[in-house]
Amino acid sequence: MSLSLDATQLDRYSRHVILDDVGPEGQKRLLDGRVLVVGAGGLGSPAIQYLAAAGVGAIGIVDDDAVERSNLQRQVIHGDDDVGRKKVDSAAEFVAELNPDVDVERHEVRLDAGNARELIADYDVVVDCSDNFATRYVVNDAARIEAVPVSHGAIYKFEGQVTTLSPDGPCYRCLFPEPPEPGTVPDCASTGVLGVLPGTVGCLQATEAVKLLIDAGEPLVGRMLFYDAMDLSFETVPYARNPDCPVCGDDGIDTIDGIDYAAGCQIDAA
Ligand SMILES: [Zn+2]
Repeated sequence: MSLSLDATQLDRYSRHVILDDVGPEGQKRLLDGRVLVVGAGGLGSPAIQYLAAAGVGAIGIVDDDAVERSNLQRQVIHGDDDVGRKKVDSAAEFVAELNPDVDVERHEVRLDAGNARELIADYDVVVDCSDNFATRYVVNDAARIEAVPVSHGAIYKFEGQVTTLSPDGPCYRCLFPEPPEPGTVPDCASTGVLGVLPGTVGCLQATEAVKLLIDAGEPLVGRMLFYDAMDLSFETVPYARNPDCPVCGDDGIDTIDGIDYAAGCQIDAA
């Protein structure tokens, strides 16, 4: 725990410090905060930007991909010179230039059943910026077992969705118990995505992460926000914990060992 903000920090974070709901205490919480961002792509780019600017002291970044030129239309922390570099390295360099208060912890791996719990347990909040169902379900299941909140976001063409999974609220599987069959839902590479869309959605996810760290406002728990860029509409739909949920239900799991996420993440009713 840092004792107090130094003069440079009071200057850098002055617009936070003067807010009643943040103040120097809230800023210290951000500086002591640890956020794991899963994916340094379209959603991860704006999330990482704003979390770093806000002074979140430790940002873990999980990504095993390299920057491709076709990423640059939306993945705004990477530049033309970064094509071919590892995204974790490009992201870490971006953060270092933006804010020296932030330590980037590089996890150049793909999150899976074998490493997810250990990684997630080391953080206060997870921001799930992944682009596939396997990772999304691993994040949900591992974070639930480790009691770490998750800011979930997903995008498709011109639409996005955001919700916050609190350890004592409904989880992603309460809404969608099992993922769609592999191959039935296309990804960005095969369908396209409006470049600015993940900017909006990733910023909403970062907003939730900041609120969770400073314990302010009303998190998006038990509510799914749907955003449609085409008519610029936001709709919030409530959802409840499902007592039959395979993860957080009355007979929920306490381990993810043995779940084959790559095959579709089904949990057999034991
Ligand atoms: Zn659940």
